[in-house]
Amino acid sequence: MSELDRTQQGAHPVPADWTYAPAPESREIVRIQERYGHFVGGSWLEAAETYETIAPRDEEPLAQIGQGTAEDVDTAVAAAREAFANGWSALPGSERAKYLFRIARILQERSREFAVLESLNGGKPIKESRDVDLPLAAAHFFYYAGWADKLEYAFPNRTPRPVGVAGQIIPWNFPLLMLAWKIAPALACGNTVVLKPAETTPLTALLFCDVLRQAELPPGVVNIVTGDGRTGAALVEHPDVDKVAFTGSTEVGKAIQRRLAGTGKKLTLELGGKAANIVFDDAALDQAVEGIVNGIYFNQGHVCCAGSRLLVQESIYEPLVDKLKRRLTTLRVGDPLDKNTDVGAINSRMQLEKIEELVAAGKEEGAEIYQPPCVLPEKGYWFAPTVFTNVAQSYRIAQEEIFGPVLSVLTFRTPEEAVEKANNTPYGLSAGVWTEKGSRILWMAQRLRAGVVWANTFNRFDPTSPFGGYKESGFGREGGLHGLEPYLRFDE
Ligand code: NDP
Repeated sequence: MSELDRTQQGAHPVPADWTYAPAPESREIVRIQERYGHFVGGSWLEAAETYETIAPRDEEPLAQIGQGTAEDVDTAVAAAREAFANGWSALPGSERAKYLFRIARILQERSREFAVLESLNGGKPIKESRDVDLPLAAAHFFYYAGWADKLEYAFPNRTPRPVGVAGQIIPWNFPLLMLAWKIAPALACGNTVVLKPAETTPLTALLFCDVLRQAELPPGVVNIVTGDGRTGAALVEHPDVDKVAFTGSTEVGKAIQRRLAGTGKKLTLELGGKAANIVFDDAALDQAVEGIVNGIYFNQGHVCCAGSRLLVQESIYEPLVDKLKRRLTTLRVGDPLDKNTDVGAINSRMQLEKIEELVAAGKEEGAEIYQPPCVLPEKGYWFAPTVFTNVAQSYRIAQEEIFGPVLSVLTFRTPEEAVEKANNTPYGLSAGVWTEKGSRILWMAQRLRAGVVWANTFNRFDPTSPFGGYKESGFGREGGLHGLEPYLRFDE
């Protein structure tokens, strides 16, 4: 046992009266309109019906948002088709790239404004929207700007052509980043877009329309129609949409696939996950603990590739779980706009109820729960970081996507058993391996049925690296050269 471990053992790691002074990020930089319509053909289309979007940290009403109807979707698809046919698809790649570079640079310039709005509307800590979501969103536009005039080199001896109008539906966990993942490759390949943001987090997508105006993107190339699942369904079903890209729940993904069967529309689905984060007994435990914390508590666990199942080699189970619990006591849960916050607000009441239901099921099935002492704000949607030990593989908390700050800990003895348990899920989006042995990393990576395998790290993203799943986590890849292919056709 190290000296540090000895001195910390049994003692509370943080002195009880050790509090942080508030470090709030000012929201003055953000101007929110009272009411928004849909962004169609380069201008605002009045919405007949609206709903209220709120701040999950305190349920403060933020704005009235348009509930897109089938007619609104139809107008947006028509605008996208016109823009596709009358210029955008025929524009040289080097010209399309200029727009993408401009968008990327404007996102960088306005990153603070976007980060504040993202945290306000979605509940994620400002340090994450500032340091992860915004830089990555800009990086995606920069990256695909680079491909726009090099498609022939990306696919040698083939003739890549744009597909047409892309209908894109995104979730609420990374609103602007998912928008960037969808729009950047679509535009780089010469397509036009109709995008529907998630019902609870439309504000950064609506602010992005102002970036499009600044970048002088031709009208109709990108259209944003807001609304709930009905608006998404209308977009999927629209006969003039050539390609559908969806990120969200496996349930809705399956429904979309059924709807599109036989229509000839291209489809990519990025769905749920129940990733295993696997720690071997030779791993650097303190680093592993940081990776585990980042894997499941980043963005309140609202991450499709979250490391929600921790598989620990039996021989290190106790020291690792001790260290993990100790680390949890230092996580600061609270105001998303405070720069010291580690874990922000749960995105919606509905999601909070889902987390609560699954946590209750975990307790009922016999798992042991640990939550660090923390005072949760009275208003808004909150859930304390949670660890379940004594979890059997059959428990719902080991099988179902909780999409919240809840970790289930299981154990294994041999690498074979780790692989068997890690793959024992309907999902296959990501996995993590913690070990000092390079050969074991490669051995594991070959056997894990997961689209991404991180080694001695977790939740690292880069626009050059393809991302996507196996099994019920969906199909198709976003990011990297692979992310171009769904937006291209290769017939002569
Ligand atoms: P959904 O799959 O319902 O939402 C994803 C997007 O699809 C949203 O824009 C949503 O609109 C839209 N949508 C909903 N129904 C339809 C439909 N029939 N046709 C087309 N589009 C539709 O996820 P939820 O927000 O309901 O979350 C439920 C669960 O899904 C979460 O608890 C989590 O487990 C999982 N999830 C997984 C994500 C991932 O990245 N893998 C992301 C989000 C959720 P609207 O916002 O109005 O519902």
